[in-house]
Amino acid sequence: MQGKLIIISSPSGGGKGTLIREVRACLPDLGFSVSHTTRGQRFGEEDGREYFFTDKDEFERMIAAGEFLEYAEVHGNLYGTSLEESRKVAKSGKDLIVEIDVQGALQILEKLPGDCVSIFILPPSFDVLEARLTARGTEGDAELRTRLKNAFNEVLQYSKFQYVVINEDLPAATRQIVSIICAERQCRDRQEAAIKGILDSFDASKHRFNGD
Ligand code: 5GP
Repeated sequence: MQGKLIIISSPSGGGKGTLIREVRACLPDLGFSVSHTTRGQRFGEEDGREYFFTDKDEFERMIAAGEFLEYAEVHGNLYGTSLEESRKVAKSGKDLIVEIDVQGALQILEKLPGDCVSIFILPPSFDVLEARLTARGTEGDAELRTRLKNAFNEVLQYSKFQYVVINEDLPAATRQIVSIICAERQCRDRQEAAIKGILDSFDASKHRFNGD
């Protein structure tokens, strides 16, 4: 079965990190694309797990060498999905979660339209977004303000995505994303090999009914 890129975007504070952790716990066969970023490492983050933490020179070298499937400047830092990470899909045949901002999502949707499932996570309101981002406590005041200001534009991009999940209640939103991924796996074109095997078994038994 051919794997898909499951693109998940939301404004900062939309809760996609937590949601993705829950979804991966429900569907352990999902792969996860580790992005490169020039932003500083947060407490508790591990290089190669949340991100490949990369300096600006190396990031720019990778851009020049054409090593990114997509990249974008987000809240003043560079973030990108390397071609190497996205090739994991082709190699493994498994679905791969790609957690990226809207600019990056649009680049991938344009390059690989048939290989993607796009999901936009909306917070239930601006106030909830602000409260979540503030409670997370990972940004200083100026950075927090930038992220909130950028969210006004980002929420309007929901219309470019196939699916929208409103993240009000974590278990409900997790179930919705798991349902989308499971439904996508049942698409006819992803089951051609299995269907062929079944139809072959029918063919093999057809002779028994000749003359009926
Ligand atoms: P954070 O700094 O909070 O980890 O991420 C900031 C934003 O960058 C989030 O919206 C996140 O989804 C986005 N982001 C993370 N990785 C990538 C990537 O590889 N490409 C793009 N375009 N955005 C990314």
